[in-house]
Amino acid sequence: MKPINPGSRRQKIILYYTLAVVLPGIILGYMALRGIRNDQALREKESRRKLELDSQSFFTAIDSSFVQLMNELTGDSTFSLSTKDDPSLLAFFVKDNKGSKRLISHRMLYLPDELRTNQPAQLDPANNLKDGVRLEFIESRFSEAIRFYQNIILKSTNPTEKIQALIASARLYNKMNQPDRAKELYEYIRKEYSGSLLNGQIPLGLIAGLEILKINQTIGETDELRKHSRQCLDLLLHPSSEYNKNQFDLFYESFKVIIPKTDSVIDSLFTELDTQRARTDYLIRILGEPNMINSNGKIQTKVGKNGMSIIPFNSTNLVAIYLSRTKNNGNQTNMVFDFPVYLKSISEKLIRKLDPNASINVKIEDNEGRLIFSKVINEETNYLSFTFPENLPQWKLLLSENKPGFIATLLIAGSGIYLVIFILIALLMVLGFVFTLYTLNEELRLNKMKSEFISNVSHELKSPLTSIRMMTEMLHHKRVPTEERKSIYYSVMMQESERLSHLIDNILDFSRMEDNRKKYNFIDLDIDDLLAKFVESIGERLQETKFNISYNCPDQIPLITADKNALLQVFYNLVENAIKFSGTSRKIDISLFLEENELLICVKDYGIGISTKDQEKIFDRFYRGDEPQRMGIKGSGIGLTIVKNIMEAHKGSLTLESKIGEGSTFCVHLPINK
Ligand code: ADP
Repeated sequence: MKPINPGSRRQKIILYYTLAVVLPGIILGYMALRGIRNDQALREKESRRKLELDSQSFFTAIDSSFVQLMNELTGDSTFSLSTKDDPSLLAFFVKDNKGSKRLISHRMLYLPDELRTNQPAQLDPANNLKDGVRLEFIESRFSEAIRFYQNIILKSTNPTEKIQALIASARLYNKMNQPDRAKELYEYIRKEYSGSLLNGQIPLGLIAGLEILKINQTIGETDELRKHSRQCLDLLLHPSSEYNKNQFDLFYESFKVIIPKTDSVIDSLFTELDTQRARTDYLIRILGEPNMINSNGKIQTKVGKNGMSIIPFNSTNLVAIYLSRTKNNGNQTNMVFDFPVYLKSISEKLIRKLDPNASINVKIEDNEGRLIFSKVINEETNYLSFTFPENLPQWKLLLSENKPGFIATLLIAGSGIYLVIFILIALLMVLGFVFTLYTLNEELRLNKMKSEFISNVSHELKSPLTSIRMMTEMLHHKRVPTEERKSIYYSVMMQESERLSHLIDNILDFSRMEDNRKKYNFIDLDIDDLLAKFVESIGERLQETKFNISYNCPDQIPLITADKNALLQVFYNLVENAIKFSGTSRKIDISLFLEENELLICVKDYGIGISTKDQEKIFDRFYRGDEPQRMGIKGSGIGLTIVKNIMEAHKGSLTLESKIGEGSTFCVHLPINK
């Protein structure tokens, strides 16, 4: 027989599998992948177009918001307070056709003189205080001077005179070495007159504050000094009246000299003041000549439909937009606003309008890459960058579409189907591979068993044949001397040929059972009679091997429907196994039991027994136990498979009880005729 080479067979099957499954799989997978890629590219293109449109709409919306802002401010002369108080509005002023400016609202620390509203008072300041000044400065009669000043404070109806008297009193108390009273008066002035300018020039709040600081510095009140320093700087930062640059600088420099920089709050107030100073200076320049100083030196004015010009400004301290609109009568409305603050305040609203379903992520970065605004739902996306149009600071608008989740992607028409196909192919390939490997292994295992079976059977056939041939030859050549010896030879030859015939029966039956050709001839049978005869027939052979077979059965046994030869084959196979696997034991019990619905025929031996692991497999075709193979006990591995098949044909069953070293009991259960 041609030997089976498992290696080449395995390679062949893998080759077929590759040709039949893997190659088409790879081709289909490649096509699906290309489909997915195309689809993705298409969606990306679509998304880019959408984001481009979104960015345009966003910029247009900013422009429209400017117009709206201007309309709100100029729509009626008494513009709404909320707009005026908008934190982004840095300056709002009107210019008449003659070129004179009027400031309506602003966020500056100081103003150029042309924009200040309060003009210096024309009254003679110290007229009524003349006598007090004389008493104080010329005659040094301080107590009388104090009384004089206080009299004016109490009686005067002229507010300027009253304030002057208050200041004079405080100054004099200080001179008289009564700092507490002086401080008290200055604090009163700062509190009551912080928004007033004496003679339209001197900011009372600041001057009182400065005097308090000086007193505290002189008497060494450090805690007080620090507390008042913060108040004074705060007052400078949030002016309650209009100063010009000189006044502001005067106080700023004086504070800088007096205030010790020992406190983080004070430090940050100074820093803030410096920033605001720079912004104020820049704003004053913008208000003066906007077209001259805009961001790059070149004018980037955009004039809208309604005659509004927009100029962007970009300096280290201030990014601003200057809006200006000239009416038919030549009057011009101008406003400057803080672009970052403004954008932050409107972006949320604009984006919500633009993208009500929150399908895009938005970021705004200034020209140094700082994040000004961000509305991000899903961070892990690629942003498209759009530069702001020319009439705005050159910032960047970053947009990205929100990526849908995996399942959502699958559900999106078109793209999902490719992915599903792709996954299915991969799954099929893996399944196919596993299945091929499994069947391949199974087949190889069976093949191996078949080869073993053939070699075992040949061996089993050969040994009786050899002994028959040998004895026949001896008899033929008359080399057997005695009659007694001849008789033994005949008997052995008969037994061996019987064994041969059983073996061949087994093989033929097995082959018929394998392809369902086995036919049974069911008749009513007296099983007790059959068994008794069977035991008797094997008795002879067993006598020689010194086996002791016992047979027990109850008195009354009903008839059963069965195939006589098949049952004999069952008994033969079970008893043959009992003999083969008895080891050193020489005892076999055959018993017949009658139960309610069935007859039990049990063959019990006291031999090597069967391991639990083998008990599950010994009924499989070609299977042979490990132990018998190790011990060199011959066999074909089909005996029990035939028994099991015959039992199934008789609608009966087969049970086994066994323990290693103690023996085994095989019982066949046959249903009783009702
Ligand atoms: P074979 O006997 O030709 O090997 P069988 O199908 O009759 O094939 O039995 C299968 C296996 O079952 C045997 O190889 C043996 O391992 C085990 N077996 C069967 N009967 C017995 C028994 N009475 N005692 C121990 N082992 C047994």
